[in-house]
Amino acid sequence: MFSYRHAFHAGNHADVLKHAVLVAALQYLTEKDAALTVLDTHAGAGLYRLDGDYARTSGEASEGILRLIAAEPPKAPLAPMLQAYVDMVRAFNQGTGTKVYPGSPFIIQRLLRSHDKLKLFELHPTDLRALAGNVAQLEAGRQVAVLHEDGFEGVKKFLPPPARRALLLCDPSYEMKSDYGKVLDMVQDALKRFATGTYAVWYPIIPRPEAHDLPRRLKTMAQKAGKSWLHATLTVKSGKITETAQGQTKRPGLPASGMFLINPPHTLKAALQAALPQMVELLGQDRNATHTLEAGG
Ligand code: SAM
Repeated sequence: MFSYRHAFHAGNHADVLKHAVLVAALQYLTEKDAALTVLDTHAGAGLYRLDGDYARTSGEASEGILRLIAAEPPKAPLAPMLQAYVDMVRAFNQGTGTKVYPGSPFIIQRLLRSHDKLKLFELHPTDLRALAGNVAQLEAGRQVAVLHEDGFEGVKKFLPPPARRALLLCDPSYEMKSDYGKVLDMVQDALKRFATGTYAVWYPIIPRPEAHDLPRRLKTMAQKAGKSWLHATLTVKSGKITETAQGQTKRPGLPASGMFLINPPHTLKAALQAALPQMVELLGQDRNATHTLEAGG
């Protein structure tokens, strides 16, 4: 059931899109004084070693965050949104090169004020242990709660939040086909409980009908609820399965992913307009690399 381990994928192109959006959204949402509640339905381990066995085996960060870091000024100016994301990763690597990659819990916590709250959900026992240990070192007290619960269900009790301001990040591994339906049910329910929350869903772009349908259904949901929405996708390579000269099947790995937001910060579209072409330029692996950006409401 749980073979997915984010440590293999930390800092890859999908994390770049997801975490750059997360940083930009939080920077906006923390401009107002009122307390913010952040719900991370699928938290992972929180911190990852890029020089550890998992990351070295997959090498995915070298096609993701490490390309952005290599391209930083003075070589080329980064779009403000990408620069803010790179600065965030840098903040976890003072004087050490780039050995540590912060997952969503640590990116979020770093941007919160003392009166904001963070609820982290994680089901995998190993990742939960790592997450709880990493969070304990923050000494953040009651600001951060680690919950060994199903994030799809667990968020319900926190909506609406006390100060009526919330960001929910939903980032499942989609290992099981049922995750797609659960995302839709959860967002639908969350909108009923708290219609003005900001909801951010990451999803993989893979040849599976459920993955194809997810953004389309989220869009319909937002439109029916009369909410604004934003949909960004990043493709870094072809998803075609090829054959080697020896007749072996070669799978390309994840070629593309998307972020769908309901009630996005109004500044996010312009920020992505500047950042997405640069992500394509810096992270693209073949001539299929591209992006899309659509908004409504
Ligand atoms: N959000 C993290 C980040 O950006 O750093 C990465 C999360 S990873 C893609 C998905 C995580 O969800 C895995 O660690 C997995 O163990 C966990 N998980 C799977 N099903 C879950 C569920 N129903 N509720 C909470 N966590 C779950």
